[in-house]
Amino acid sequence: MSKIVKVEVPDIGDFTDVDIIEVMVAAGDHIAAEDALITLESDKATIEIPSPQAGTVSEVLVKVNDKVSQGDVILTMVLAGADATATQAPEEQLAEPEQASTPLAMTASAPEPQAAPAGGSDMHAEVVVLGSGPGGYTAAFRAADLGKEVILIERYNTIGGVCLNVGCIPSKALLHTAQIIKETEEMAAHGVTFGKPRIDLKKLAGFKNKVIGQLTGGLAGLASKRKVQIVNGVGHLTSPTTIEINGKNGTTTVSFDNAIIAAGSTVMRIPGFPYDDDRLMDSTGALELAEIPKRLLVIGGGIIGLEMANVYDALGSRVSIVELTPGLIPGCDRDLVRPLEKRFKAFCENIWLNARVTDITALKSGLKVSFDGKGAPETDTFDRVLLAVGRSPNGKTIGAENAGVIVDERGFIPVDKQQKTNVANIYAIGDIVGQPMLAHKATHEGKIAAEVIAGMKSFFDAKTIPSVAYTDPEVAWMGITEEQAKVEGIEYTKGVFPWAASGRSLSIGRNEGLTKILFEKDSHRIIGAGIVGTNAGELIAEAVLALEMGADVEDIALTVHPHPTLSETFNFAAEVAQGTCTDIYIPKR
Ligand SMILES: Cc1cc2nc3c(=O)[nH]c(=O)nc-3n(C[C@H](O)[C@H](O)[C@H](O)COP(=O)(O)OP(=O)(O)OC[C@H]3O[C@@H](n4cnc5c(N)ncnc54)[C@H](O)[C@@H]3O)c2cc1C
Repeated sequence: MSKIVKVEVPDIGDFTDVDIIEVMVAAGDHIAAEDALITLESDKATIEIPSPQAGTVSEVLVKVNDKVSQGDVILTMVLAGADATATQAPEEQLAEPEQASTPLAMTASAPEPQAAPAGGSDMHAEVVVLGSGPGGYTAAFRAADLGKEVILIERYNTIGGVCLNVGCIPSKALLHTAQIIKETEEMAAHGVTFGKPRIDLKKLAGFKNKVIGQLTGGLAGLASKRKVQIVNGVGHLTSPTTIEINGKNGTTTVSFDNAIIAAGSTVMRIPGFPYDDDRLMDSTGALELAEIPKRLLVIGGGIIGLEMANVYDALGSRVSIVELTPGLIPGCDRDLVRPLEKRFKAFCENIWLNARVTDITALKSGLKVSFDGKGAPETDTFDRVLLAVGRSPNGKTIGAENAGVIVDERGFIPVDKQQKTNVANIYAIGDIVGQPMLAHKATHEGKIAAEVIAGMKSFFDAKTIPSVAYTDPEVAWMGITEEQAKVEGIEYTKGVFPWAASGRSLSIGRNEGLTKILFEKDSHRIIGAGIVGTNAGELIAEAVLALEMGADVEDIALTVHPHPTLSETFNFAAEVAQGTCTDIYIPKR
């Protein structure tokens, strides 16, 4: 038997006999907790009354123009996840979900009382979040800030996911060190010579770990302040409203009204390689800094591989890179990658493009690697090999099938613009829902899922997710790439400003950069931008804002930028497109 509950008008302040101006649900509708049920209008305010729980509407007992007061029954509903086999209590006892105190000014986000664990479960949460990466912890914190009781499930002891523990943050901590080493070397050309750096690998790893510890510890503190309960263990969905967590202390079952799947992604492996040999590393292994190999092979010329190549080069390794496609950083415009390729060619022992690794054999003397591709040797032996060929989503490892959640053949979970999966009360965010697999996409999606659960009308409608390679030089791009515009037949004009004409870039001795902006041909609005050069990752944010605000070439060209800065190059690129730039000579057309 199912649990039927009555949903009443909650506390709406000092108002009685308030008009119903809208009824948003009908019998048979599946609704999530916090979905709006009816709208009331008094002479002072309009109030949406949210559903206190998820379930299916049985009968709507009010209509438009009815007048209601606190305690009047709006509808009856069958609760989601009600245990059909559980012993049924008399209906009167079940009828009243504990009432949310809903002041007049409330949004659908006011805190609600805790529901009791569903039949057989150890705990209950209004929102369960599976995975504590940037997507998961953001979703959990936002949901808690919106008044929800939240349980955050994480298989590791520290929260923060890939990004904080083995991704964005540790890699950037090491890249900063690499940058300083390189900059001091290059100061010789400015007349200042430093001695050869002495590298204490343990201390460097310790610094990186301290940064991770500060951030993950900070997150744990933020979770506790928000009363987000963290449950450690491997989570596995067992139904659309329950999840089982296998941890150190056994199995815990949690029932939930809503779940947000934020289980992220895992390093992709090429089958048949000797993964039991520590000298064959993935990005996590490379970030551990076990040793500085004399010769390092990086398999994969994408962002992660190139960032680690920069780190190990600066620490003293001789680095080779092998990439399957014809160029480094596939997907990015070639004019932006060219300055990076030039700099990498200068320090790398080899860059083999259009080539692949077919075999790796572990020998005492090193890892013997076999190649296939023009220009690559048949075999070569390296002290260590870093495999950086991408990441695959964790969709197939979380029991999604038990909840009826669709997972595609690659392991991605399809979602709509509100991060909803095909199951009404289950949402998914971050790497597990698709490309680009980036932390800032995950956090943005996390907020949306939490807000939708809390009854807000939030949608994922970002115009772009910027990409950044924190390499030396940095490469950053957003919106439509020039390649994409050509393929899709989008008519555009462009402004390109070479940094060789930027006083600031010359003064820091790095003039290889480039700032490019694409404008839609008729409207002159910005549709894409790319930057290569020092701090490109910081500079691209202005382009993203311009795109989101619908800025056109004039808006950017007429915005006074501080001088001398690298940010000026964004202004100058728009002036180039306009034909008004005086910092370079543009022949008359
Ligand atoms: C070396 C490296 C550098 C990177 N640099 C950047 C960068 O500079 N900028 C950027 O934007 N992105 C970067 N990324 C990508 C970024 O880390 C990811 O896009 C981001 O972490 C994805 O966030 P997420 O919340 O989707 O999942 P994740 O961060 O992957 O977190 C998922 C969490 O779920 C947990 N989990 C999974 N399954 C279960 C389960 N069954 N039970 C319990 N817990 C589970 C995992 O342990 C993990 O903690 C980098 C990645 C790597 C590897």
